[in-house]
Amino acid sequence: MQIAIISDIHSNLAALEAVLEAIGKVDAIWNLGDTIGYGPHPNECMALMRQQAQVMIAGNHDLACIGAVPLDDFNTDARIANSWNGKQLDPDHRAFLEALPPSRSIDERFTLAHGSPRDPVWEYLLSRDQAEQNFDMFLQQVCFIGHSHVPLVVARRPDGRIEGPVHAGDSKPLPLHRHYRYFINPGSVGQPRDQDWRAAYALLDLAANTVTWHRVEYDVAATQRDMEQAGLPRLLVARLEHGI
Ligand code: ZN
Repeated sequence: MQIAIISDIHSNLAALEAVLEAIGKVDAIWNLGDTIGYGPHPNECMALMRQQAQVMIAGNHDLACIGAVPLDDFNTDARIANSWNGKQLDPDHRAFLEALPPSRSIDERFTLAHGSPRDPVWEYLLSRDQAEQNFDMFLQQVCFIGHSHVPLVVARRPDGRIEGPVHAGDSKPLPLHRHYRYFINPGSVGQPRDQDWRAAYALLDLAANTVTWHRVEYDVAATQRDMEQAGLPRLLVARLEHGI
């Protein structure tokens, strides 16, 4: 059983299409939120995800676009882009997002949170201390997180020692040890921030018991062109080609 883990698409349709093509046939897609915001194609990304993702949660940008969290909590560029995304959004996609929680458990082994178990909407889980505190906030072995747009893994060994965070840059499979617990971030589909502009995703292989990180090239210029046409902020357009 193969499950694709994707996050932070941010209305970047070209990136999402490239990722879906690279993923190919899998048994399920779990989407960790921020499907919209920043980019030029909120409705297309929502439609594709509602069709293809078995599980979806909401991120802070999704919630801001539909007015469920204040736009004032964002910097100017993000605020402008979220407000634009919200205005484009079909009522049906809006209603769908309104019903999504920012975290949810899958089963006894896996759970999902956009930011972190402690604060699923806002916390950027990037440090060892944060990981240590957050391991006490969920019961499953593995929590998949998004939000920081950085592909990474943090492990807690049976003796309580924390390994990582380690940047997950290559596609060497990470074995999931039975008595370890994990935070795993697949990275961002639509706006990577680890100095690599290529779209990121991860594959969970339940038979091999591994997670593998992948990067895919996509037509950045197409997304940038559409952003310019929509009048979205210049810095948001420029950052895509740098992966920042
Ligand atoms: Zn995001």
